Amino acid sequence: MTVRAYAPGRINLIGEHTDYNDGYAMPIALQVGTSAVFEPDGGTRLTVSSDGESGTVVIPLDTAPGDVEGWAAYVAGCIWALRDHGITPPGGRMHLTSQVPVGAGLSSSAALECAVLGALIEAGGTPAPDRTTVARIAQRAENHYVGAPTGLLDQMSSLYGRENEAMLLDFRSLEVGRIPLELEHDVLLAIDSRAPHQHAGGEYGKRRAACERAAAELGVASLRDAADDAWERLSDDETRRRARHILTENRRVLDGAAALRNRDHAAFGVLMTASHASMRDDFEITVPAIDLIAATAEELGAYGARMTGGGFGGTVIALAPRTAADRIAAELPGSVEAAGHPRPEVTVIRPGEGAHGIREVLSP
Ligand code: ADP
Ligand code: MG
Repeated sequence: MTVRAYAPGRINLIGEHTDYNDGYAMPIALQVGTSAVFEPDGGTRLTVSSDGESGTVVIPLDTAPGDVEGWAAYVAGCIWALRDHGITPPGGRMHLTSQVPVGAGLSSSAALECAVLGALIEAGGTPAPDRTTVARIAQRAENHYVGAPTGLLDQMSSLYGRENEAMLLDFRSLEVGRIPLELEHDVLLAIDSRAPHQHAGGEYGKRRAACERAAAELGVASLRDAADDAWERLSDDETRRRARHILTENRRVLDGAAALRNRDHAAFGVLMTASHASMRDDFEITVPAIDLIAATAEELGAYGARMTGGGFGGTVIALAPRTAADRIAAELPGSVEAAGHPRPEVTVIRPGEGAHGIREVLSP
């Protein structure tokens, strides 16, 4: 028996660092992803290889955090978290193939986790958990086995994406709203800065801790429960700015959903640009190359542009009229390179289909 599972990367249109604050985000799944091909052999070990890495790694099925390091920790973490959930997958050989660039802020990690879990669950023969449960299992693997304190955005996007639609994710209820994305006259551009991001580098965890501090000082369970202007009451300037980003970003996501539903891409662009400014000035997670790319995309006619993903590098997402998009693709890479940064790569993207072969939660 051979089992195949596929899960895409994602790009977040708006709503950054809101997931672990019980807030809102509006991502799309990409049209590229990661495939896992799995041949179970009934043994007690999983031997895994990847097109992107040399050699194979042997993972005992009773692996625990700390056993496996490097890229295969993402796979071992999935085995560990799945067993913790009560599903013991069979051993065997697994090979991974991916079209998602690694470390570009497009969530190659969630694509890998969701594809690996899809294959392990399918081969296990037990009733499949629903997609939201799979997202939580993947997040547990990433948080507790790999050691990256990320929220649920990436996994939910990879599992629930659909063609021609953006998702409106509510991280408190874990409801998935659907917003049609009309891209006939306008274009979404992913502009890879090629300045690699790094979550585990500690800054991500510091932002998360600052949000928790702000919620504690305001006496709420999470910043989702704080009023829009509650940040004004916080005592120190840095915590105030961190909280202000989260509170204003949640508002921008909801306003952005309304703008997209009205097909008002100019209004959506204004919110993207405001989101970028908030990440740059209040949350302080951008870098100069990314700021320049976003500003240049706007100068060249985009409705708006913002960094997407956890930050400190990665990719800028821009929404632009078709003619401006052509100009951005032609002129932006050279102009950013001339300013002394790596030459960015511009790609036209559309919302893609989510992971294959994992059951969806039926609407309540
Ligand atoms: P992002 O998810 O934004 O691409 P992360 O730092 O969260 O960046 O995850 C990237 C890491 O995930 C890689 O360094 C590697 O360890 C692992 N990874 C992702 N895709 C693959 C793959 N196809 N093969 C092997 N490892 C992968
Ligand atoms: Mg990741």
